[in-house]
Order: sequence, then structure tokens, then C-alpha cells
Amino acid sequence: MLKRILHMSGKSLQGKKIVVTGGSRGIGAAIVKLLADEGAQVAFTYSSREEAAQQVAHSLTGEGHFYIKMDIANEESVNSAVDHILEKWSDIDGVVNNAGITKDGLLLRMKSEDFDSVVNTNLRGTFLVTKAFTKPMMKARKGSIVNIVSIIGETGNAGQANYAASKAGTIAFSKSVALELGSRNVRVNNVAPGYIATEMTDVLSEDVKSKMMEKIPLAKIGEGSDVAQAVRFLLSDESKYITGHTLDVNGGMHMN
Ligand code: NDP
Repeated sequence: MLKRILHMSGKSLQGKKIVVTGGSRGIGAAIVKLLADEGAQVAFTYSSREEAAQQVAHSLTGEGHFYIKMDIANEESVNSAVDHILEKWSDIDGVVNNAGITKDGLLLRMKSEDFDSVVNTNLRGTFLVTKAFTKPMMKARKGSIVNIVSIIGETGNAGQANYAASKAGTIAFSKSVALELGSRNVRVNNVAPGYIATEMTDVLSEDVKSKMMEKIPLAKIGEGSDVAQAVRFLLSDESKYITGHTLDVNGGMHMN
């Protein structure tokens, strides 16, 4: 009966409880909005901009959503936010590891602190959040984890050795965890965006932007909602036989 009601709603994530890191702006905010539109209850995190998180929360359709502060680079902060979420929700259906940073620079000028902070946030942060939410999903024998990586983790990029390493590492991390959790019906996949218009890419010079545009067969910049649609699919039961995969959302900029 419940299944029939869910099916009748026509929403692909109806009744699912999903956690999104870095949902206060950019791609994360687009993901949070789409998941809510598709019937999910969403718990999303921010690290510094509470006002932005509040604005996203106000724009959501449906009920049961909330946001919480979490610094994914800090284990204590991750564990305390995860405890809070699991107190509210005894089980969860999905996790989207979206939060991430860049600190670009050519190798010879890159400070070790900038290498560490990018790897610590993007790769270790994904590890911490994934680990913290894995137990309840394994116990329930259901779940979908989606990690937002990057085209740069597949191709490399001059000036982004730290970022590329963090995202390539996350791709390998996801495949390993997919192998570990498959027998418990917990799936782990990546979405690899190309050039998407957000604050992260706004800071690039016009020269870098126009050079990137030349490499995009679809001849346009991607939107957060393009990435969100791929994430929605991987969280939904439509992808129930897909795990360990990296789904490119890059306008054809890189073809695997
Ligand atoms: P933005 O810079 O626009 O947003 C980053 C988000 O991550 C914010 O919500 C921010 O929260 C959060 N965040 C940053 N640091 C931390 C931290 N230490 N702990 C918790 N949350 C944190 O980035 P995008 O939306 O552009 O990128 C989102 C993801 O997509 C990233 O993983 C990025 O690497 C990836 N990506 C983006 C591409 C693009 O073209 N934009 C291309 C390929 C991949 P707050 O605002 O509260 O600080």
C-alpha cells in the first residue's frame, strides 16, 4: 500500500531522508532544492554562512527539512553534527558529500598548508562523513552515498595538484567503499561536474573561463541543477543496480 502511495506521488525520492554537506550555496544548494522538490526530507550542513543556509531552508518545498553547522575538516564537528542528525532521524537513506574547497597554485609555489587543507577538507572530510553515517545504513541494509568529485580528479589540471589529488582520491575511496558495502545494499557513487557556475568558479580569470569554454562540446557552462539531477538519479531507486560508478556532468568536456 505504502509503495503504491509513493509511486502515485510521482516523486522519485518520496519519503527518503537524505543528508547533504555544504548545502548553503552553489551546487549543494541546488541539490538540496531538487531533493526537496522530489519528496525527500533533507538535512543539510553549512560551515560558515548560517544566513545563506537559512535562506535555502526557507525556499524549500515540503516538510521535515533542517540544517546544521558542520566543519568537515574537523572530526569533532562532524561527529557532533552526525549525532544530532541521527537523534532526529533514526535511519537515513542517503548522503551527499558535496562540501569542498580549492586553494590553487602551481606546484613550486604551493604551500604545504594549502595542499593539506584541500586534501583534509575534500578527501578526509568525505571519509569522516561517510564513515559516521555508514553504520545505520548497513544496519538498515539500504542506502546511497553520492560523492561530488570533479573532472579535475579525472584529468588533472595545472595549478590544482592539491584539488586534483583530493578528487582522484575520493573516486578511489568511493570504489573501495562500494566494494565493502555492496553486500549490505549500500551503494556508493560519484558525480563529477565539469565547469559549473558557482562562487568557486566565479573567481577564475576571464582568460581561464574562455579557455574552458573552448573545450566544452555543448558550448555552455553547466548549472547547479544539472549536477543535482545526476545526484537525484543516483539517490533514487532508479539506480538500484549502480554502484562504484562516476557519472560525468561536464557538457562533454572530458569523455571517459
Ligand atoms: P562553493 O564554493 O560555491 O560552495 C562550497 C560549499 O561547501 C559551501 O556550502 C560551503 O559552506 C561548504 N564548505 C566549504 N568548506 C567546508 C568545510 N570545511 N566544512 C563543511 N562545509 C564546507 O562550491 P561549489 O558549489 O562550486 O562546489 C560544490 C562541490 O562541487 C565541491 O566539492 C566542488 O569541489 C565540486 N565541484 C565544483 C565545480 C564547479 O565548477 N563549481 C566543478 C567540479 C566539482 P559555507 O558556505 O557555509 O562555508
